[in-house]
Amino acid sequence: MNVDIPFDPQIFYSRQIVLRELGPQGQKKLKQSRVAIIGVGGLGSVSALYLALAGVGFLRLIDQDTVELHNLHRQVLYSLENLRYPKVEAAAKRIRDLNPNVEVEPIPENIRTDNVEELIKDVDVVVDGLDNIRTRYLLNRACAKHRIPYVFGAAIGLEGNLSVFAPPETPCLECVFPNFKDEELPTCDVRGVLGSTTGIIGTLQAMETIKLLANIGETLKGKLLVCDFENMYFVKLDIPKRSDCPVCQGVTTEKSHISERLAWLCGHKTVNINPSRPMLLDLERIYEKLEKRFKILLKSSLAIVFEFYGGVEVSLFKNGRMLIKNVEDEENALKIYKSIMNELIVEV
Ligand SMILES: [Zn+2]
Repeated sequence: MNVDIPFDPQIFYSRQIVLRELGPQGQKKLKQSRVAIIGVGGLGSVSALYLALAGVGFLRLIDQDTVELHNLHRQVLYSLENLRYPKVEAAAKRIRDLNPNVEVEPIPENIRTDNVEELIKDVDVVVDGLDNIRTRYLLNRACAKHRIPYVFGAAIGLEGNLSVFAPPETPCLECVFPNFKDEELPTCDVRGVLGSTTGIIGTLQAMETIKLLANIGETLKGKLLVCDFENMYFVKLDIPKRSDCPVCQGVTTEKSHISERLAWLCGHKTVNINPSRPMLLDLERIYEKLEKRFKILLKSSLAIVFEFYGGVEVSLFKNGRMLIKNVEDEENALKIYKSIMNELIVEV
């Protein structure tokens, strides 16, 4: 920063405070607001960027991934120097550089039944930056339960969808897209995606979030915006509540306790493994042990990335979670996890 130009919020926000739709009152509301962004990939890195620039006071960023080369064509918060870093760590740094007026909380976690409510219950709006329907269902249910507006976005290829779910006022995600299975849905690595597709949908999500927070205009509550960028066809559909929706009827049973400990990441040979109990690791001490045996690829404040044997790359996070890259099967991944934990961590 140029020391002779101090950061003055009045000047930083001057071009939006002048908006009659926002004004100083709206700006103050944004400053007092708390938003959780679940997933800071193609959608979330764009919505996080615009929410930070708009001056939302608190942003909680939640993502399990590290930055990879094939992310960079669309995930605008990251650059080449961020490769291998936990996405939330790189995103938090970039946002603090862009707007020191925003408080950012980076959480390098995956969304699970046992943590989703804790992560969202104290925010005003939740923004969906996820890439799979299973965790979207978890998020939808938690948001409905705690009555937190859920800004839904999805993007693939040259298409995208957008809505604001706020039951009981509006339908929820499961009213509109019930019983979908990830195995039956297209993924970014197979279908592909343009950076501008996620850029537009992520920007629209930021727009809807700002409108909700500052009470501006009409949001997409009760509507689904369907965007076809190939033909530039946009349609806004009325979406009804589904009378037999378990979420809106309040009769959900937590069904999925199917091994949440271990999960393949969308579209690559990477397995995420969670620790069997909550832990907080001393990364400094573990680093000293690891560097004697393995080639360290990265050490950051939230993770250590190193080369295990046989081309396997391991990202070990502060909370005991591991991403194990280049493995063929779960059994092998779990074996690697246990051997690292046993040798390096248990005795720490
Ligand atoms: Zn519903």
